[in-house]
Amino acid sequence: MRSRFLIVLLVLWGCGPSDSGNEMTSTTVFEGVRLIIGNGSVIEDAVFVVEDESFAWVGSRSDAGDMLDGTRIDLDGATVMPTLINAHFHLSNDRSERISQLQHTLYYGTTAAISLGLDEGEVGLQMRGEEMADVARSQSAGRGITSPEPGRTEVPYWITSEDEARAAVLELAEQNVDFVKIWVDSRGGSYERLSPELYGAVIDEAHKNDLRVTAHVYRLEDAKGLLRAGVDMFAHGIRDMDVDDELIELWTDRPQVVLVPNLPGSGVPSDLSWLDGTIVASELEEMLAGQELMENFPSPVAQERFGIQARNLVRLHEAGVTISFGTDGSSPWAPHLELEDMVRAGMSAADVIVSATANSAALLRMEDVGTVQVGKKADFIVLEANPLDDITNTRLIKAVYMNGEVVDRQAIQSQLIGG
Ligand SMILES: [Zn+2]
Repeated sequence: MRSRFLIVLLVLWGCGPSDSGNEMTSTTVFEGVRLIIGNGSVIEDAVFVVEDESFAWVGSRSDAGDMLDGTRIDLDGATVMPTLINAHFHLSNDRSERISQLQHTLYYGTTAAISLGLDEGEVGLQMRGEEMADVARSQSAGRGITSPEPGRTEVPYWITSEDEARAAVLELAEQNVDFVKIWVDSRGGSYERLSPELYGAVIDEAHKNDLRVTAHVYRLEDAKGLLRAGVDMFAHGIRDMDVDDELIELWTDRPQVVLVPNLPGSGVPSDLSWLDGTIVASELEEMLAGQELMENFPSPVAQERFGIQARNLVRLHEAGVTISFGTDGSSPWAPHLELEDMVRAGMSAADVIVSATANSAALLRMEDVGTVQVGKKADFIVLEANPLDDITNTRLIKAVYMNGEVVDRQAIQSQLIGG
């Protein structure tokens, strides 16, 4: 790796190409590819070199020169993009089930996910940073914090005072969670939502302990309160109404605050045929039958709800707010629907891909992944067609690589639909 970097440096310094030959044995050269870097740029007819676990060279064929030495893999016109990173997910608290979920999610091209706030016990916390072959990486927010919500999950801390708020955060700080998750939602008037005093105390105590806070939010008014209180990330968009100028101003004054839009169903039937052969046949049949049975589908009510969040997403994006990516739930293939929904909302495919790769990596502070750039871990998806032309082409996966190794999708698939 070192000598290849040296060659790059020598070329850059104008010292001419070195003829050091090909001593590297763990070098693989990928060529014949359109490369989506993940930071907004694209290289047509690209070459990239993977050495050990990382990208050692990335560029266009015309600049490749000596870089073409090594084991060569011609991707034959395929498109390569970085793997997806899911910044709002939920994983099982059972270790083997969690591993299985992370395998399935990897099968569909996601190499990292954070489980936001429903992790109970030690498993989620212990599995952070664990590297396993053909298993996506995970982070955990441990137990989130909310006001009492009897009848809903009892995993989160239920707090009713500032003291309880701070005590909960101190426990989470002890566990060094990757984020503190809070819910600020009355669930349609069923509960008293977390008050500004209480979420203010959570955010204050979290920041004192070098933790960041992500909020489940519903109303515009609460989003404003959370911004004023210093929230770091929204795990959903604003859902009750269109955002106003005051919100835009509060947000653009705090450019570090990230939005994970997590859009609702668009209210139009989705084509699910691409899942055929990758999930249990009866499960797909059930989903298709469910869609047919749904009265009034396409659903104007769902379309209306989607419309609010879509307009809010585009307005915030255009105002310069950093948009990241997450799906909620535990479905391993949902990222591909979310990518389509974000484009349907009005973002460009190129911007949506940046959200789901580089921006999510930055949000989760995973500095060594998220883009196809020298020094980053060689995590990438090989696609049959270009998702910049049609975002649903992210579903046409030929191969997934993680840490420079091809993922055994066949084995995961037989586990998914057989056995
Ligand atoms: Zn969630």
